[in-house]
Amino acid sequence: MGKVTGFKEYDRELPNKIAPAERLENYNEFVQEYEPEKLNQQAARCMNCGIPFCHSGCPLGNVIPEFNDAVYQGKWEEAYLILSSTNNFPEFTGRICPAPCEAACVLGINKPAVAIEEIERHIIEIAFSKGFVKPNATLQRSGKNVAVIGSGPAGLAAAAQMNKAGHTVTVYERDDRPGGLLRYGIPDFKLEKSVIDRRLDVMEQEGIKFVCNTEIGVKDDMKAFIDQHDAVIMAAGSTIPRNLTIPGRDFKGIHFAMDFLKQQNKDVSNSAIPGERILATGKDVVVIGGGDTGSDCVGTSNRQHANTVKQFELMVQPPAQRNENMPWPTYPMLLKTTSSHEEGCERFWGINTKEFLGDEKGDLRAILVSDVSWELDSLGRPVKFNEVEGSEREIPCQLILLAMGFLHPQHQGLVQNTGLELDARGNVKAVEGQYQTNIQKVFAAGDMRRGQSLVVWAISEGREAARKADEFLMGRTSLPSKDRIN
Ligand code: FAD
Repeated sequence: MGKVTGFKEYDRELPNKIAPAERLENYNEFVQEYEPEKLNQQAARCMNCGIPFCHSGCPLGNVIPEFNDAVYQGKWEEAYLILSSTNNFPEFTGRICPAPCEAACVLGINKPAVAIEEIERHIIEIAFSKGFVKPNATLQRSGKNVAVIGSGPAGLAAAAQMNKAGHTVTVYERDDRPGGLLRYGIPDFKLEKSVIDRRLDVMEQEGIKFVCNTEIGVKDDMKAFIDQHDAVIMAAGSTIPRNLTIPGRDFKGIHFAMDFLKQQNKDVSNSAIPGERILATGKDVVVIGGGDTGSDCVGTSNRQHANTVKQFELMVQPPAQRNENMPWPTYPMLLKTTSSHEEGCERFWGINTKEFLGDEKGDLRAILVSDVSWELDSLGRPVKFNEVEGSEREIPCQLILLAMGFLHPQHQGLVQNTGLELDARGNVKAVEGQYQTNIQKVFAAGDMRRGQSLVVWAISEGREAARKADEFLMGRTSLPSKDRIN
């Protein structure tokens, strides 16, 4: 699709970014927009590849060549309708998705992939500016009453789809505003919160009710709560962080990444800041963990004007080029280089953290680390690490941020009081594709069911769980599935 010879004529180009020195002075988004001609050229690069693997690469089943073609032809409303038929929130994924669709792009076999994520962001921004994104005023009500617990991308997508099916939806959120990790995990420089508020306005006008500052399952009689609703969709996230229980863990100055990030996000949105303030200002900061959370800690520490920022990762640096074990031209979704790294950060790969070191007052003063090498299995996968002899050293630091992922949802409260069964990893048990838990009326979606993942997967799971819940309520459903796009 696009222009038949476009992929030969134009190179992949991404929009300009505001330079690091300037963007570090605030928490605003810094990726700019394409000039109209450039957007047209980037859409033109989508070739008529026959089997567009991007469809299945995208967890939402986005119909990518078709919207690229509409963009190339300047048919903005059509592009918006195609995109929004599979994705409720392209304004989120267009900003922060690691774009598995681009890793699956056929052009990517011997040229850089089509800039699908940026095209998606432009379609939805143009759609909002031209007034195409309107509340659906023609919904026919089913008389069924649905609760969604948790307002992250999974809960929001489930709510939007259940509302579209005509059910009366109330979303319960324990925090002071809806959005989940979109609001209080992911920093504003990746996703400004006005982007979430703009969408919530549309959802509220469509009739979805949001009840915040309400943690379901703590004081509630969950049986009575479930009885009051025709269906309940749980999307409470995966919130228990992985700890590093090595000697010295109790020294002052060692924090979970989310405690640090949440405070800064609340500060930017003028909400009350929970707990004693954690600041990187003037400190030597070490971030442990190489994923999205780690890189958000790097970007936030730099904006708080840390003295130095280092990031440690236990794995070794992934190869820049594909190797024989990686036939598809993918880029590593984990441990990737992000815009935060451009802003100033020393990255260390293959590092094992052995001990936190403190002073007599109990304050953190350094970290004891060593280099590691990895033993690989026959497929080249790392299976065991060994310490490199003589590599042990102390690295001075006054703030450590633990960004090593999340174990599972919180069990205390909602999960236990509802009597939800768990899988072997401690996530809520519900078969992918069915989303129904051990309690008939209760469905689960997003990180709470899947384990820590991505925004695009949370939206996908919210949509699919809504479809199953609608089928359960009505005996049939006309909501679309990623596997069977209507
Ligand atoms: P969440 O977003 O976690 O939302 C769950 C919501 O449920 C929360 O608002 C919580 O307060 C609420 N809740 C919990 N219990 C209750 C209760 N009992 N009653 C009422 N409400 C409750 N993914 C990407 O694709 N790209 C990124 O760049 C990216 N960056 C990330 C950065 C950070 C710092 C983190 C932590 C994650 C990042 N992710 C990213 C992952 C992504 O944010 C998650 O996969 C996604 O938000 C999961 O969505 P969810 O709706 O399942 O859960």
